[in-house]
Amino acid sequence: MAGILFDELIFGPVHSRRLGISLGINLLPVHNKFCNFNCVYCECGWTDNSATKIVLPKRTDFKRLLSEKLQSLHNTTLEPDAITFAGNGEPTTHPEFAGIIEDTLEARDLYAPKAAVTVLSNASMLHKKKVRDALVKVDKNIQKLDAGTEIMFQRINQPLGNLTLEKIVENLLLIKENLTIQTLFLRGENDGQNFDNTTPEEISAWLKLINIIQPAEVMLYSIERETPAAGVEKIARKELELIARQVQALGVKAVVFD
Ligand code: SF4
Repeated sequence: MAGILFDELIFGPVHSRRLGISLGINLLPVHNKFCNFNCVYCECGWTDNSATKIVLPKRTDFKRLLSEKLQSLHNTTLEPDAITFAGNGEPTTHPEFAGIIEDTLEARDLYAPKAAVTVLSNASMLHKKKVRDALVKVDKNIQKLDAGTEIMFQRINQPLGNLTLEKIVENLLLIKENLTIQTLFLRGENDGQNFDNTTPEEISAWLKLINIIQPAEVMLYSIERETPAAGVEKIARKELELIARQVQALGVKAVVFD
């Protein structure tokens, strides 16, 4: 499965099950995925960072294009509820991410004041102060935590290099406010190895991490589209709700999307 790549810097708006009318921002290359994870469920397909020349959009071009797009949507039925950084990989790896967030907040205030500036990220770059400082300013800082154990983290997220779950949790603990955790629950097999983050052992380990991190909110969701790993099982809403209740028992808000 090749996955769906976003072929523009600014795409949509699209209807998102979690964010409403969402104008998407892709800070990664438009013709290939660029990420430091290789999640078995990634809608962009498998990670292949082998391209010799990665061309990232420039901050100045982005600023102009975003202003034009928001002006064209202003006072129409498609004025966005969210301006969402997602796209063909990990947005916080863009070297101008912090400045781009500044520009986005400015443009939002001028042309789409009700839109929540939202970042979907895998928490791998939170050790960088500039990235953290930018994320504190956005309306929704949504960071991924799909596993409670190292083995499940490696099997589901398949990070490149020597990224570990311990490092990701350390990163998340550096965010003291405005943190939402997103967790995608799934079961399946990839390359002869099973993965399942819904077993009692995995849920228990994951809940311990949620309790330590104490985010403002946890979003629990299931796969929505075809995944690069074949035969991934979609988790039923009822099962997600059972897990959500265990999060709520910790005093943490939990919302289910399916
Ligand atoms: S972190 Fe996001 S973009 Fe990267 S592989 Fe995982 S789902 Fe895909």
